[in-house]
Amino acid sequence: MSRPQAPRGTRDLLPTERTSFLRLEAIARGLTDRYGYQPIETPLFEQAEVFERGVGAVTDVVEKELFRVSAGRGDTERERWALRPEPTAGMVRAYIQHGMQTLPQPVKLTLIGPMFRYDRPQAGRYRQFWQFDVEAFGDTGPAIDAEILDLALRFYAEAGLPGVELRLNSIGDRVCRPGYISELSDYFAAHADALPELERARLTTSPLRLLDSKDAAMQPLIAAAPSITDHLCTECAQHFAALRAHLDAMGVTYRLDPRLVRGLDYYTRTTFEFFPQGREGQQDALGGGGRYDGLIELLGGRPTPGIGFGLGLDRVVLALAAAGVTPPELGIVATVVVGADPADTVTRLRIATQLRAAGLSARAELGQRKLGKQLESASRDGAHLAVICGDEMAAGQVLVRDLQAGTQRPVALGELVREIQRSQAQHRHGDGSR
Ligand code: AMP
Repeated sequence: MSRPQAPRGTRDLLPTERTSFLRLEAIARGLTDRYGYQPIETPLFEQAEVFERGVGAVTDVVEKELFRVSAGRGDTERERWALRPEPTAGMVRAYIQHGMQTLPQPVKLTLIGPMFRYDRPQAGRYRQFWQFDVEAFGDTGPAIDAEILDLALRFYAEAGLPGVELRLNSIGDRVCRPGYISELSDYFAAHADALPELERARLTTSPLRLLDSKDAAMQPLIAAAPSITDHLCTECAQHFAALRAHLDAMGVTYRLDPRLVRGLDYYTRTTFEFFPQGREGQQDALGGGGRYDGLIELLGGRPTPGIGFGLGLDRVVLALAAAGVTPPELGIVATVVVGADPADTVTRLRIATQLRAAGLSARAELGQRKLGKQLESASRDGAHLAVICGDEMAAGQVLVRDLQAGTQRPVALGELVREIQRSQAQHRHGDGSR
């Protein structure tokens, strides 16, 4: 029998990579706490309709990439389910279902977790990937739009990724976008012969999507297409100008990108994406988001504005590795308990347990090896201290050895926790090697 592999487009996050993810998650949690976002978790799968309506039926995410799931056994519940391709639609569903519209607004929520898209796997594009997401419901902006953009940029800065570029656009609202879309349709219709098949089909269903096309043949046509920025109604133009004024006042830099329409149907006004310095390709996009003032109504709620972003954590880990930034290692124990009597695992385990109960990171050497071998393995693991149980035990003492300095001293068992706390604090403030 052949050996099973992780499914195509998925991967195991081995300890080094998982550590990078955990570090990013900790940065994200710290930031969302400081900015007043509350954590939420929604199911990894929803009724497919939540995404079909919430993301838009004529989008790549729903048309080509939705990861539909079936319970098998005849699907007795007669549900059509899909794994979540993005978090916003599920969070909006939860916001409506739990009556969060009656809470003081805005309701500010955050979620970190895996998303699923049944796409052709390639570098930086997985079928299961992770997003850090924030959503603010019930505020029309533009101040909160600026605050959210600042939060995202601060996340990249704290992650140690320099020079992330913010690309910004406004795609209008239900007042001004229809006029623009009809002009855009006329423009592309006049070039129908030059359109690739998929784009020609979308001309009638979702002409805005053509601006998002990755097809090389489309690029000159897209570059010459009418620009939404020239078609914004007064309210949308004012909203966009005020957003830019907020960003300027906060010292946030950005590049205006009038072709940035984002892949999802529900965006209104503010749209944005983040790219590593000097990178253009969609496959390099680090994250994106925007305002979706019509979405909550679309999913059955009272008309309520909203804005949010989803940042791809896999891409940040890749970009950090490309920039040579290595995260600190986690999971290295600071103290190893060893003993002169190889068979006496009881004493070693008991002392390690006491240290852990006191909040210290400790491991007992459980192999029945000679003391020299036990000490070697402690050094190899990068431990800072070894607690040696030997003849001194008869006098209620152990030896505490500094494995890096090579010095050791007897310590009374009753003093051990305090002594180790003291030397670990010294170690942390000393050479800072961990
Ligand atoms: P989107 O909503 O498609 O703009 O996705 C938001 C962010 O999630 C992107 O900017 C990427 O960083 C990340 N992302 C989207 N799809 C994938 C994927 N298939 N694999 C890895 N990361 C992804």
